Parts: sequence; structure tokens; C-alpha cells
Amino acid sequence: MKRILAILLAAVLAIGFFSIAASASPEPKPTTAWNVLTLIFLNVDVIVPDRPGRIIDSLNQDDVNHLIEVTSMIKESIPSISGSLMSIDQMDFVTIAEPIRVLNAGWNHMNHYVISDILDAHLAAGDYDHMILIAPLSQVANGWLGLGGMAYRNVGVSQVQHRSGNTLGAASEPPFPDAIFVHEMLHDIERRSRAIKPNTASLHDNALFGFPTAADEWRAWYTAYMRNSPEMNGRGIDPQAYVVQRGAAPSTITTLIQDINIIFQTVLSWLSYGFNLVVWFFRF
Ligand SMILES: [Zn+2]
Repeated sequence: MKRILAILLAAVLAIGFFSIAASASPEPKPTTAWNVLTLIFLNVDVIVPDRPGRIIDSLNQDDVNHLIEVTSMIKESIPSISGSLMSIDQMDFVTIAEPIRVLNAGWNHMNHYVISDILDAHLAAGDYDHMILIAPLSQVANGWLGLGGMAYRNVGVSQVQHRSGNTLGAASEPPFPDAIFVHEMLHDIERRSRAIKPNTASLHDNALFGFPTAADEWRAWYTAYMRNSPEMNGRGIDPQAYVVQRGAAPSTITTLIQDINIIFQTVLSWLSYGFNLVVWFFRF
């Protein structure tokens, strides 16, 4: 029995090794210039248990133009704040008309696994290192303007909600309208840095390091954090967290695990959607 188990284990390890070895070429190239994909979901049509009825909202072309203008500012802000430790190379924007119909309970944010077909199709079009998802979720989002530190298929994800007609960041003093996008992307960098250096400070630990107020929307704090300045006591972002691999193909095993995870999460979220429908039906 032990021998059979040993042979099986060896076979599994061998398959894993060969699939990783087979997908290791061509050689990926390290870079700190990230490619960012922004998906703007124009429509939301959802039922959530903690809000009355069905909630429908949308964004128009003016909103899309404004969002593209503001989001694009991270191309200037990221190298400026990081002292060129990181930059943004390519920024692609796609609008999605298909409504968001299912949200995750709790924060009421978009479930990446329910929209995996959309995400996969657009991720396949480029070599992306970060993805920003924007949707008109202001009526349903539970206390958040943006969420970060999440990943989908090894690509970091930020979610930002927007309300039609909202002039995002226009009242900022000094002007830093893209602060929300920088903040959520920094959560992704925080996640990456923690994997390399577990004692990396939390992005929300600004007060601990002498940055108690948000007078400049935390630009000075982000600067110290990204550059690991002396006031960080070595707990700022590890520069390796900025390094992404260009042209790296995921191994077969990694893809398989992610596919299983996607199926599992999709089933869970559809069960929760069914539950929401039942709750809604009995309330009204
Ligand atoms: Zn945050």
C-alpha cells in the first residue's frame, strides 16, 4: 500500500515538474513598468438582501470620459510618488455593457468569479499586471469607495465605485484626483510586498509612522511608504514588489488550480444569488 502511494506521489510530482518545466519557456523578462487594464462596467442590476428591492444604476459616456481622464493620471502619479521605483507602461480601457447582476455579501462588491468570462476575455488580450474594475455601485456599496489587495488569476485587482455625474477628486487640495486609484493599487503592492517581506507596514498604518492627517490625501505618506524612506524603519514596500514578469506564462498546474477555484467560487456565488432572490421574494 505504501509503495503504491509512493509511486502515485512520484507520478504527481513528475507531472507537476514537467508541466512547470514545459511552460517555463520563453524566458520572462522582469520589469517595473506595469500594464494596467481598466474595465468600466456601465450597468448594475442587482438584488441585495440589505437594500430594498432591485437596484438599477448606470454610467454614461461623460462619466466614462471623466473616469478615463482621472484613472490615466496614475501614469504620472505612480513614478512621481515612488521616485521612479515603479512606472505604468500600458493603460487599456474597456467599457462593458453587460450588467453586474451578482454582488458578494458583506461589502457588496463585484464577484470576480461570476464575471470570470469577461475578465478572462480581456486579460487574454494583453500582458497585464493589475486590473481596475469600476462600476456604478454607490447605492449598494457597504462603506467603501474603493477596495484593493485582491487578486484574480495572479493579477492584482482594485475595485472602485462611481456615481454618475460625480466629479471624482475635483475638490482635492492639493489636486490629487486619482488618489483612490493610487490607494487601491498600493493595496496590491502591499500584498505583494508582504509575500516577500512579511513585516511590511499596513497601508492604513499611516499614523504609526508619523502621518496622522490626510491633508494632502496621504501623498506624503504614500511617498515614504513606496520609497521605504527612513521614517518607515525598514517596513516600507520591498522594491522587489514592483518587479513583474513580462511574457510569463502561468504553469499548467497553476492554471488548473485557478480553474478549479473559479468553478468552486462561481457555484458559491450563484447559491448566494439564489438566496438573495428568496430573501427579496419573502420581503416584498
Ligand atoms: Zn485602504
